[in-house]
Amino acid sequence: MNGPEQAGAPLLVVENLAKHFPVGGGFLSRATGVVKAVDGVSFTLRRGETLALVGESGCGKSTTGRLVLRLLEPTGGRVAIDGVEVAGLSKQELRTLRRRMQIVFQDPFASLNPRMTIGDILAEPLLLHGLADKANVEGKVKELLAIVGLAAAYAERFPHEFSGGQRQRIGVARALATRPDLIVCDEPVSALDVSIQAQVVNLLQDLQARFGMSYLFIAHDLAVVRHIADRVAVMYLGRIVEIADKSVLYSAPKHPYTRALLAAAPVPRPGAREERVLLSGDVPSPVRPPPGCTFHPRCAFATDRCKTEAPAPRTFPDGATVACHHVETLPAAAPLVAETEPPVVARRMAVLAAAKAAAAA
Ligand code: SF4
Repeated sequence: MNGPEQAGAPLLVVENLAKHFPVGGGFLSRATGVVKAVDGVSFTLRRGETLALVGESGCGKSTTGRLVLRLLEPTGGRVAIDGVEVAGLSKQELRTLRRRMQIVFQDPFASLNPRMTIGDILAEPLLLHGLADKANVEGKVKELLAIVGLAAAYAERFPHEFSGGQRQRIGVARALATRPDLIVCDEPVSALDVSIQAQVVNLLQDLQARFGMSYLFIAHDLAVVRHIADRVAVMYLGRIVEIADKSVLYSAPKHPYTRALLAAAPVPRPGAREERVLLSGDVPSPVRPPPGCTFHPRCAFATDRCKTEAPAPRTFPDGATVACHHVETLPAAAPLVAETEPPVVARRMAVLAAAKAAAAA
C-alpha cells in the first residue's frame, strides 16, 4: 500500500459533502435556483474495503464519486484521504494525491482515447507520475496487461479492436497503473453483458485481494453490489438514507426506500403473479425537493411529521444508520418489506458465482 499506514484509521473520510449546481439563468442572467445534487453526505471507507453507493439515476452517487476524487469542486463539506485534507491542496499536491486515487468509468470505450494504442494509454500514467521511464515502461505495460488477464501483444492495438469486457479490463489496468489506495468504480459493469459483468466483478475482487486497495463502488444493480460490497450506502435525492454492512442491509433493510429497491426487482417467471409493490412515482425534482423527508411523496408509511421534519440519521444496534422517523414502528409485513433473498437478486448472484467457478476451473 502507498502512504503512511495509520492503524485503525479509515482510508477515506467524507463529512457533510455537498455539491449544489446553479440552474436557470443564461449568459447574462442570474441563476434562478440550485440543484442539490449532493446534500450532506458522510461516510468512511476502510483500507481494503468496498463500500457500494446505490440508488436510482440522479440520486447523486456519481457526483459523490467525482467529489471524492476532486474532479468536481464541492460546495461544502470535507474529504480526507489517509489523514490528508483534499480541500486546499495546491495543484502539485493534488496531482501527487491523485496517484493514490483512481477511477474506472462506466463506458470504457468513451474513456479510452481512440487515437492511442493500449500501450500508450497504459504508459501515460506511469510516465506522468514517475513510476516508469522510457527504458522500462514497455515492460511495466506488459505487466499491467498480464495482471488484468490480457496478452502482452495487445499493447500494439487500438481501443476499437477490443470487446466491451476487454476494454473495461484495460480501464482497470489504467487505474491500477499508479498502484492506488482508492479506486472509484463508477458503474463499471452496467454497460456489459451479464456473463462479462461477472468476469469484471471477479477481476476487481481478485485485484483487491492481491493489492489491498479500497473501492467506492457506484452501482444501481443490487445483485452486483451484493457480490462485491462489504458495506452499502443507499442514496436518495443527494443524501444517504441508509448505510449498513451488506449482510445487515440485505437481510434486514430498514429504510422504506431500501426496502422498495430490494422489493422492486421484477419476478420474470412465466405466469407469475405480480406480487411486489414497486416504487411508485418518479424521483422528485432536486431543484424543488419535497419538504421534510424527501422520500415522503413515494413512501407508503409517510405521516404528517414526515412532510415537515427531515429525519436525522440514527444508528441501530446492528450497526445500520438510517434516516427515517418511523423505523421502529414500520409494520413487519408491510407490502414494501423485501424478502430475505429477493428472487431476481438471488438468480443474478447464482450467475455471477457460476461464472467465477467456470473461470477458476
Ligand atoms: Fe417514509 Fe417518513 Fe421514514 Fe421518510 S421518515 S422514509 S416518509 S416513514
